[in-house]
Amino acid sequence: MTNLSQEQEEMRQSIQKSAMIWSVVFALAVATIAFWALGGQSILIRLAAAAIGGLVFLVAIFKWRFAANSKSAQCGNCSTAFSICKTDHTETLKSSTAKETRDAQEDFSTKVTTWTEEIYDVKGTYTCASCKDETVKEYTSTRKIDEKAEVEPAPVKSKVPAAKAPAKRKTAAAKGKASSAKGKTAAAKGKITSAKGKSASAKSTKSSASKKP
Ligand SMILES: [Zn+2]
Repeated sequence: MTNLSQEQEEMRQSIQKSAMIWSVVFALAVATIAFWALGGQSILIRLAAAAIGGLVFLVAIFKWRFAANSKSAQCGNCSTAFSICKTDHTETLKSSTAKETRDAQEDFSTKVTTWTEEIYDVKGTYTCASCKDETVKEYTSTRKIDEKAEVEPAPVKSKVPAAKAPAKRKTAAAKGKASSAKGKTAAAKGKITSAKGKSASAKSTKSSASKKP
């Protein structure tokens, strides 16, 4: 890899950079898991295990990603390293379908999600910078567009409060009757007290009559 052109060198650096990002992310995840998994151990053992585990993964994943991406950038025809570039990319709309899902909610309303599913035929052309050998890769890509979510109120649920309202009024009227009945009881009690008053006055007249002689 000594006689790399500027384009090849740029590609090598970009592959190196992406391999570095991959390995750093994985190494940090491994180090964190190792640190927490050894919760019962001393802090030194935990830090050492996290550092060693992280370092091993950093090197292993970097090597793996760099080798894999370098291999895909190497021409299968002339074996030139870092020579494969994407030179063309076309997308053809294959189908467009309207889709819908209906999810029943806890409050009896319905969440209606609608979207358009588009399927594309994708064609990517990769060309070798050295021998101009072309490789075409074809695949399909599915995309979700114009996604909208709406809530349909439940028709049964909306009728329930209307039916409940007069029922509540009836209860209130029944309560009114009950309170008026209580009023009657109070009035009846009043009669009783007044009757007691009469008997008390009758008693007083009796006592006054007994005192006279
Ligand atoms: Zn080539």
